[in-house]
Amino acid sequence: SRVLRIGLIPGDGIGREVIPAGRRILEALPSSLGLKFEFTDLQAGFETFEKTGAALPDKTVEILKNECNGALFGAVSSPSKVVKGYSSPIVALRKKLDLYANVRPVKTVLTAAKPIDMVIVRENTEDLYVKEERTLDDPAYGGKYAEAIKRISARASSRIATMAGEIALRRQSLRANGVSSIHKAPLVTITHKSNVLSQTDGLFRSTAREALAAPRFSGTVNVEEQIVDSMVYKLFRQPEAYDVIVAPNLYGDILSDGAAALVGSLGLVPSANVGEGFAIGEPCHGSAPDIMGQNIANPIATLRSTALMLEFLGAEEAAARIYAAVDGNLEEGRLLSPDLGGKATTEEVVQDILRRL
Ligand code: NAD
Ligand code: MN
Repeated sequence: SRVLRIGLIPGDGIGREVIPAGRRILEALPSSLGLKFEFTDLQAGFETFEKTGAALPDKTVEILKNECNGALFGAVSSPSKVVKGYSSPIVALRKKLDLYANVRPVKTVLTAAKPIDMVIVRENTEDLYVKEERTLDDPAYGGKYAEAIKRISARASSRIATMAGEIALRRQSLRANGVSSIHKAPLVTITHKSNVLSQTDGLFRSTAREALAAPRFSGTVNVEEQIVDSMVYKLFRQPEAYDVIVAPNLYGDILSDGAAALVGSLGLVPSANVGEGFAIGEPCHGSAPDIMGQNIANPIATLRSTALMLEFLGAEEAAARIYAAVDGNLEEGRLLSPDLGGKATTEEVVQDILRRL
């Protein structure tokens, strides 16, 4: 059987309550899937920073790079005021491991008034996030002004669009493996603002189009485009229309937080940071200090993030098992955590989902 070594980075707050659930679901997968898991506990986060002076110790990065196939990252607390020497470990990890895609599925149960089942695929390395800003002074602009570089490359646009196409195909195969969905045929929506930014967003658009015209997608994956502002409108009016959305960094950041708001609880929304042959599953929520230590954190965002990580490690069938078990728990609606209006503890939700595997 195939052995996958997974780094576990619980971080702070409820990260420590939900990451163990990710480990348990991996351990509970049936052996018939041919997977074995080994785990390495790793440090990162604000408490790690207070103890060691580094929010992301070098050792954590080294072990992830040299020994692990993937990882689960819980959440970290950020100090409310600026603390010298502290910077976000997940942002650093994305850079150090070249995790060029941020993938965020947003899904409700099929019985919801407005069922939603979409994935936002955000380019994670360029656009305005290259942070090449400068502040200048020129009377022509009335004095002080600032500007920033928006960098879009064909290479990054092509690889992110290719990933979106692959995710669309894989979702079709997850459906064939029993994962519920409102969609029948794969669809990728390319988001941009090329009517205004004809060169930068224009390049993103044309390169994405080209990548999605590759033989393995054409005829199977439908491709459409949506200008980003009307995308926001449609996302809120008609969220059920979307399957996979691919976007440059900034639009993707905004769309993915907006889409997460459509499903009711942050405790449901997973994500993955993905690079070449490596993936980190990460629930979208933070360390939730208001509910920590009470055994009421919803573990579903983490369990879905665990499945998402598996998808990118080529363990699609195992991912399908987890998704289907989570869907089963939500559709029955008997054992739900308080954020979903239920009374179940974290432990009870985990046990119900493990039972359904
Ligand atoms: P948060 O996501 O931690 O919490 C927002 C609200 O959602 C809270 O009421 C919380 O109780 C609830 N919530 C979140 N996850 C839940 C879950 N699994 N089950 C049930 N309820 C859940 O965001 P915040 O309160 O703005 O931030 C708290 C801390 O987390 C801050 O220090 C912030 O910097 C950090 N944060 C970290 C990340 C990350 O690590 N990726 C993301 C966001 C915030
Ligand atoms: Mn964001």
